[in-house]
Amino acid sequence: MIFHQLQHELDERATQGLLRQRRTLDSPQSPHIVVDGKPYLAFCSNDYLGLASHPQLIAALQQGAQAWGVGAGAAHLVSGHFEPHRQLEMQLAAFVGKPAALLFSTGYMANLGVVQALVGKGDAVFADKLNHSSLNDAMLLARAEVRRYRHGDMQQLAQMLERTQSGRKLIITDAVFSMDGDLAPLPDLLALCERHDAWLLLDDAHGFGVLGAQGRGSLAQYGIDSARIVLMGTLGKAAGVSGAFIAAEQVVIDTLVNHARSYVYTTATPPALSAALLQSLQLIEQGDALREHLQGLVAQLRKGLGGLPWLLMPSDTAIQPLLIGDNQRALGLSEGLRDRGIWVAAIRPPTVPQGTARLRITLSAAHTADDVERLIGALHELAC
Ligand code: PMP
Repeated sequence: MIFHQLQHELDERATQGLLRQRRTLDSPQSPHIVVDGKPYLAFCSNDYLGLASHPQLIAALQQGAQAWGVGAGAAHLVSGHFEPHRQLEMQLAAFVGKPAALLFSTGYMANLGVVQALVGKGDAVFADKLNHSSLNDAMLLARAEVRRYRHGDMQQLAQMLERTQSGRKLIITDAVFSMDGDLAPLPDLLALCERHDAWLLLDDAHGFGVLGAQGRGSLAQYGIDSARIVLMGTLGKAAGVSGAFIAAEQVVIDTLVNHARSYVYTTATPPALSAALLQSLQLIEQGDALREHLQGLVAQLRKGLGGLPWLLMPSDTAIQPLLIGDNQRALGLSEGLRDRGIWVAAIRPPTVPQGTARLRITLSAAHTADDVERLIGALHELAC
């Protein structure tokens, strides 16, 4: 009976064009992937600098495994915290200009842990309505009062803050919105924090490694910082490996070590991954040419997609969503591209609001201008 119900729910999703299905890659992550034996030009990974299959990272991971084994074998607080973890935390903190950093196994877990450790009953969190799902889940888990403001609406946020008198106040936002590609108004957010004695949790999953001088992230891009800002960065996107970190004041990090449940109650990431990430951090720091190339591709794509019947959403980042609206139409276009040997994911509700299904095009420094030209040509063909 229960299986029957589950199947019915899945069938319903399918008729609405909302069924989620996985495809298996038979190749490493890169712009040129093989899926079910067929080659595709892909525009959907978050491997923004093309580091996921970089030979120096592969070598660092191999050496890391030789030196430290393949598994951490325990949680960080038991016997799973290794020298490469410690070094990576120190270097990440220095890289983003914060006193301390703490590694988490994934960005999802970092967000769950940090919100739950910093706020609870009697406190209030203020969140942009288009924040990533991990931040939304984190707020529910924390049991603080939740107030969601319209995307980027600083006036509404200011009113909400004014009306909140007691408890800790934590503003939570994506720095680069994962499904839209636009940037949060960080200077305005920081000014509101100062005026209302609030903190800011900044999820820089899509800015770390990509934005700012040497890829130091969204804060560097804006040229701002404050002890009030708790920064989250992920290590499975531009950094090309896996994991995430929180960088903040030492007292915040110490609080997380003691209270962040997704840190305390989980096996540490393999130390070999940290060894690879130490190498990745060097490549990121030296990667201004990669970032320049990526920005050139963004400009080329935006110019080339002018005149299409769909809105190319306003974004200067590597995330370039093409707003389609209807779920089935978005799926149809994704399939049309696939028939032409190009892979772009159709993103549908509930990941994005109803009626805003889109093709989420992501660019990488590993793409060439010819790759981008091929995508532009295919989309113009499909528009006819
Ligand atoms: N925050 C944002 C804004 C993201 O886009 C993602 C990943 N899609 C995460 C957090 C979660 O990071 P991870 O994939 O490392 O769990």
